[in-house]
Amino acid sequence: MSELITTHPDPLFTDLFVDGQWRPAADKARVDVVDPATGEAFASVAAGDVADALDAVAAAHRAAPAWAATPPRERAEILRRAYELMTARLTEVAELIVRENGKALPDALGEAGYAAEFFRWYAEEAVRIDGDLRIAPSGANRILVTRQPIGVSVLVTPWNFPAAMATRKIGPALAAGCTVVLKPATETPLTALLIAAILAEAGVPDGVVNVVVTRRSGPAVSAMLHDPRVRKLSFTGSTEVGVVLLKEAADQVISCSMELGGNAPFLVFADADLDQAVAGAMVAKMRNGGEACTAANRFYVQEPVAAEFSARLAAAMEQLATGPGLDPGTQLGPLVNAAARDKVHDLVRGALDGGATALTGGAVPEGPGYFYPPTVLSGVRAGAAILGEEIFGPVAPVVSFTTEDEAIAAANDTPYGLAAYVYTTDLARGLRVSERLEFGMVALNRGLVSDPAAPFGGVKQSGLGREGGHDGLLEFLETKYIATSW
Ligand code: NAD
Repeated sequence: MSELITTHPDPLFTDLFVDGQWRPAADKARVDVVDPATGEAFASVAAGDVADALDAVAAAHRAAPAWAATPPRERAEILRRAYELMTARLTEVAELIVRENGKALPDALGEAGYAAEFFRWYAEEAVRIDGDLRIAPSGANRILVTRQPIGVSVLVTPWNFPAAMATRKIGPALAAGCTVVLKPATETPLTALLIAAILAEAGVPDGVVNVVVTRRSGPAVSAMLHDPRVRKLSFTGSTEVGVVLLKEAADQVISCSMELGGNAPFLVFADADLDQAVAGAMVAKMRNGGEACTAANRFYVQEPVAAEFSARLAAAMEQLATGPGLDPGTQLGPLVNAAARDKVHDLVRGALDGGATALTGGAVPEGPGYFYPPTVLSGVRAGAAILGEEIFGPVAPVVSFTTEDEAIAAANDTPYGLAAYVYTTDLARGLRVSERLEFGMVALNRGLVSDPAAPFGGVKQSGLGREGGHDGLLEFLETKYIATSW
């Protein structure tokens, strides 16, 4: 183990967490956790299967009535304690994220803080569950609307934000009065298990939060979605898997919140403040090493400033220190695994073969580890695969455009609709373009959209529903209408 790890939990939490107990998988199976900086396993975690997943559902179901009946203030205070405990252990959480995900420590610290904020935000939201009372148009009746916890919720999270994607779901679920089974990504189970330990320490009762790691996500999640005790699926991951799970959930008409893939355009108009645009591009592209659903995937820059923007972006990208995420000074860590790195490189090669130029980067370094250099491509041809697929790596393809209409058409020419970025100093243009972009989130002169207080989510094939803000709470509440007269 790296000597740089000074505060990671000892022992690591490496068992399943079911009904408040740490336990091995029913069949005693385990799965290795690999450090992407070395390609070597550094821990192994209990790998549950269908039986473990259904045990967790049973525990969540048993705990549900008491948790739903727990006063909102009490639920809020438990979440607030979780926020405080997690904040006190931010470095420990961040170092664990680095170990299993690979990202640079500054990114991991950013994620850990962002993740903890969901507990604080939803501690505050737990006591703000409202209803409605109206007089029916006839005047004779009253329309009483109340919101109740939706019930046992299955939460499925990806590896790219192992802490934040978990807390962004657990926070609102617990605030709403729901009990949960979390199935984290197999690549990054340790952070989720540490968060479960923090929640238990904060006072979450047994069975309210369960974590089941598995090597067989398909069968385990399918079994849960076909269990009549389950009423909700909240999924973050690829569109491909999301489509499979929507079909699975359809059999029982389970309510689904889906945070899926993205293909974010980053528009720079000639009147933009280029210093700000480059700084914003570095955040939008390089936060998390490009492994973010909101990552700027395609840069459309107006002709008069395209060359200058590309050169400045390449210069900024070249400055980044690449290395193992825990090494002091590292700003860019490795990608999560070999398949991810190879996919990024294939897209780059395809663009270069199609006539693009690499202003920086573009070559895979020698191992060990799954590193890819910061790369800027100019002159990328319309229709290149790199403009149509999620790159999920530190690569910025730049395309120039002439008119506003042309830029909007190119930006919207995708089945995805998660995040888009616009840089212009003309406020009217900024708002006009923002309105015409078919995306759930638009960053106007900003490189970052994520905020626990804001509704995060996509349109088209980027998802259904919203996480964060007040909207995130509503995803875990069912509306009940009581027709009454008095
Ligand atoms: P993924 O879809 O491969 O996996 C996501 C989760 O689903 C993991 O827990 C995985 O183990 C599980 N899974 C995989 N196959 C499954 C199956 N057949 N049945 C049930 N569960 C299954 O995605 P990933 O590679 O872990 O994450 C990257 C993707 O997530 C990217 O597409 C990214 O855009 C997306 N993402 C979206 C958001 C968002 O908020 N919209 C946030 C982060 C990541």
